[in-house]
Amino acid sequence: MSDPIYHLPQERRLVTELPGPKSKELAARRDAVVAKGVSSSSPFYVTEADGGVLVDADGNSVIDLGAGIAVTSVGASAPKVVANVQEAVARFTHSSFATTPYQGYVDVCERLAELTPGSFAKKSVLVNSGAEAVENAVKIARHATGRAAVAVAENAFHGRTNLTMALTSKAMPYKAGFGPFAPEIYHFPSSYPFREPAPITGEQAAQRAISYLETTVGADKLACLLQEPIQGEGGFIVPAEGYLPTLQAWCREHGIVFILDEIQCGFCRSGKWFASEYDGVEPDLITTAKALGGGLPLAAVTGRAEIVDSAQTGGLGGTYGGNPVSCAASLGAIDTMKEWDLPARARAIEAAIRAKVQPLVGTGSVGDLRGRGAMMAVEFVNPGTKDPDPAKAGQVASTLLEQGVIALTCGIYGSCIRFLPALTIPAGLLDEALDLFVEAAGN
Ligand SMILES: *Cc1c(COP(=O)(O)O)cnc(C)c1O
Repeated sequence: MSDPIYHLPQERRLVTELPGPKSKELAARRDAVVAKGVSSSSPFYVTEADGGVLVDADGNSVIDLGAGIAVTSVGASAPKVVANVQEAVARFTHSSFATTPYQGYVDVCERLAELTPGSFAKKSVLVNSGAEAVENAVKIARHATGRAAVAVAENAFHGRTNLTMALTSKAMPYKAGFGPFAPEIYHFPSSYPFREPAPITGEQAAQRAISYLETTVGADKLACLLQEPIQGEGGFIVPAEGYLPTLQAWCREHGIVFILDEIQCGFCRSGKWFASEYDGVEPDLITTAKALGGGLPLAAVTGRAEIVDSAQTGGLGGTYGGNPVSCAASLGAIDTMKEWDLPARARAIEAAIRAKVQPLVGTGSVGDLRGRGAMMAVEFVNPGTKDPDPAKAGQVASTLLEQGVIALTCGIYGSCIRFLPALTIPAGLLDEALDLFVEAAGN
């Protein structure tokens, strides 16, 4: 176990007004040519990033609590990732695994088989994005079962392609005006402990979902049940204890493929290698992306060999899936996660966040603090109620941006601020950002 190595000073250092003149100039050029549908929550044009900081075009060093949406868990320029990428890209950029295979793809699939939950024989298919992984998991489950219907949790986010828009709950901005959506998708009530009208156990929440699915769809029609073990975009919702194991048992009983989407919470983010481990569940299929690629585009479906192998040869894949440079980056990232013991660092980040933020919960507009590891969120409410307050979340995020701290919002109501730093962020830098958060949130 060794400590992270940084090449950029790990400090918040503001040298211009924010955003600075160079970022403003780029924003003006962007307005003319970049689609308005593509959003950026921060105004900084990045030129370098490392550990917990990001340096912008004007030379400002800002604290990054977003890590490119949970992607750069090892940091955005970790030495092993950079070295592996440089070495790989100089040898060959692409060959397409579908025409001429190479070792890196096999190496990544071996790591996935070894690290993901479940001691059974596993196989993987590599693709380019999280949405593509979810699409492939559904394809595989339908093929393996010969059934069409897909059960998916409320408050889910699974991507922006046509099928994954249908699987996603939040209409604005992800779905509005982009339909029609894929058929045979059924959203079941999931577990959102903070918003239960009265406290219920995880088993009861799961029974509510099961009863809904049995009455409205029928267990024998379902190819798969899909859920994030910690819901990401939906607001870092940790389901009540016992919820996931009860759903898993029901899926097993009825031959429904149990799919967990660990695209955001997987690969050390939650304080364990996979968030499923907290619940003692072993999904039949697991989707991974984000941190898996160490910053390069890479995603995977991994699962029981007999389920994955049901799909006919040539039925899965794509031109770029498992690109050799992305595979090299991934192997560097996974080595780094082990060497720097990133699960332990994620747990230390959780402890630091709880120490600073927990005292605010129940005071003013801070309604809830939840999550696991370096995946924690605060939900803002109108004081004295549980009514979501997205305006407050937006205001806190923009106050932080003005001070050089990138913090992202999330939540089905947009009422949460999420803490999602690189797992390599130095403790002092995280504390500095948290103090600014407490100041912005606490009134
Ligand atoms: C980000 C995310 C996706 C979509 O991944 P993309 O790479 O953006 O397509 C799917 N599921 C979850 C849980 C995510 O967080």
